[in-house]
Amino acid sequence: MDPSRAQQASKSAAPKQTGSTPSFQAALSQALTPSAPARDAQQTYPHLSGDLDSNPVLLGRLERLAAERGESWTITSGTRTFAEQQRLYDNRATNGFPVARPGSSSHESGNAADVTIGGRPIQDVVTRAELMAAGLAPLAGDAVHIDLPRSS
Ligand SMILES: [Zn+2]
Repeated sequence: MDPSRAQQASKSAAPKQTGSTPSFQAALSQALTPSAPARDAQQTYPHLSGDLDSNPVLLGRLERLAAERGESWTITSGTRTFAEQQRLYDNRATNGFPVARPGSSSHESGNAADVTIGGRPIQDVVTRAELMAAGLAPLAGDAVHIDLPRSS
C-alpha cells in the first residue's frame, strides 16, 4: 500500500471509533450488574449450565466437547469451599456418589466438575476414550466426576 492510500484508509476508519462509545457504556453497565459474572459464564459456555465456577481451562474443554456432540451439559457441582466439602462429607451417607474428605477434593482447587447429560452421569454417556482425547480425566467409580488432568 502506498502512503497516500494508507492515509485514506486511516481517515475512513476514523468515524468508526466514535461509534464504539455506546457499546463501551453498555459493557460498563453490564459489568456493574451483580449477576454479570453468571451471565458472562453462560455466554462463554453456551453448551454448559449450572455451577460454572470451575477452572476456565476445564470449562473450556467441557464446552468444546459438548458443542462437538451437540449436547447441553449440566454442571451439578463445580468449585467448593472447605465448608461446602465438609457439609457434603457429613451428609455422604445420603449421597449417591463418593464424597472426598474435606481438604482432599479436587473440587476445592477448582479443577473438577460433576457433570450430567439429560440427567445421566457424563461417564454413562461419553466414553472414557472420548473424554481423555478431549483433555478430560474421568474419575473411576464416580460417574459424574471429571478432573482436569494434573499435567494441564
Ligand atoms: Zn465430583
